[in-house]
Amino acid sequence: MNKGKLIVFSAPSGSGKTTIVKHLLKQEDLNLEFSISAASRDPRGEEVNGKDYYFISLEEFKKHIKAEDFLEWEEVYRDNFYGTLKSEIERIWALGKNVIFDIDVAGGLRIKHKFPEQTLAVFVKPPSVDELKRRLKERSTESEDKINMRIAKASVELATAPQFDVIIKNYDLAVALEEAHQLVKDFVNK
Ligand code: 5GP
Repeated sequence: MNKGKLIVFSAPSGSGKTTIVKHLLKQEDLNLEFSISAASRDPRGEEVNGKDYYFISLEEFKKHIKAEDFLEWEEVYRDNFYGTLKSEIERIWALGKNVIFDIDVAGGLRIKHKFPEQTLAVFVKPPSVDELKRRLKERSTESEDKINMRIAKASVELATAPQFDVIIKNYDLAVALEEAHQLVKDFVNK
């Protein structure tokens, strides 16, 4: 199988990585396909099963862990499991495309370690933890409790930034989008 490149975007929740990933997916020169993760949480807002995530039950998720179907998985928040199915990468490679991931920092680094040459691991850095909090509140898709859980995790995640290949500062979205496009373009054409 023709193995494409793997582009990982990781960051604390609310950093804007999903916005960046969605922008990159629209750029035809990059030949990217989104890696749809399996998740044990319920869909939020406009999310669609089989597009944003494969929403599965906790029980089903654990079955996939046992069967070693995952390339990586994490209990990102308590009882909220997320993971990349091996079959998902194979699906995308079979299309002759490069894979782009929107996953948490631990999962992102795991993919980088598994495929060091093929992977570009990008960390998206928010301006500050206060700004993260503001963005998550503005999004208002989660309860106060869930927001606090995400903020607590953000500080730990920010400390892993130096382990990534590159750090993109998302202080000004237009600048971050341009920088991300150029970086990925250079990597996929290498
Ligand atoms: P959310 O619930 O906001 O969609 O995602 C929560 C966190 O889980 C985000 O940081 C997201 O990037 C991460 N995530 C999504 N899919 C995966 C995955 O397949 N593996 C890992 N390790 N994290 C994921």
